[in-house]
Amino acid sequence: MTNVQQNLKQIKQRIQESCLRSNRKVEDVTIIAVTKEVSVDRTNEVINTGIRHLGENRPDGLKKKLDAISDNVKWHYIGTLQTRKVKSVINEVDYVHSLDRISLAEEIEKRATSTKDCFVQVNVSEEESKHGLSIEDAESFIYELENYSRIRVIGLMTMAPNTEDDTIVRNVFRKLKVLQEKIADKHLSYAPCTELSMGMSGDFEIAIEEGATFVRIGTALVGKEREEVK
Ligand SMILES: *Cc1c(COP(=O)(O)O)cnc(C)c1O
Repeated sequence: MTNVQQNLKQIKQRIQESCLRSNRKVEDVTIIAVTKEVSVDRTNEVINTGIRHLGENRPDGLKKKLDAISDNVKWHYIGTLQTRKVKSVINEVDYVHSLDRISLAEEIEKRATSTKDCFVQVNVSEEESKHGLSIEDAESFIYELENYSRIRVIGLMTMAPNTEDDTIVRNVFRKLKVLQEKIADKHLSYAPCTELSMGMSGDFEIAIEEGATFVRIGTALVGKEREEVK
């Protein structure tokens, strides 16, 4: 087994245990392999395990992978998206996890050639270092998206605060779930909001216990390579 295969086996085991603890089905949790720190070769190793969802957080990193990889995989754009970069990115990816402002929505509306599945990014803990809207602003922001025909809000995304305190992390995920259900209950055609993108290498078990449907896992799965040359 390769390293990635071994890591994946352990991660799947941990996902299964989290699902057991929270009475959820493993099929309802999709792993997004975050390949932003690793090479094309390592990314191909990931694809060879059968993983079909990949995440990148920068336009140039995404382009490099797209140029080299032709497999039928789903690409998730998980990083901050600058308005001027939308044009080069939006039609190359299947999901955007970082919708957090109207100017970005306007640019997506202008540049996307088909409806794009988006997550609204929420900064639940309101940490200054993090992007995303507060819980309150996220709700009104979503209602503002009604007339953007190229945007479908399929869910909410958050990053947990940098803390060792699991209770704080769990509360953040729990609050996001409350907002997700509130929006979903409105049955808005432009914002079904059935998904929760939350949980990374250090906290995906808590995220799953609190309802994550997409977990974004980088280092625990692919390690870290930070290559200097192509
Ligand atoms: C890098 C990154 C991840 C993955 O982080 P790990 O801790 O390496 O699993 C997940 N989500 C976002 C938005 C990221 O930028």
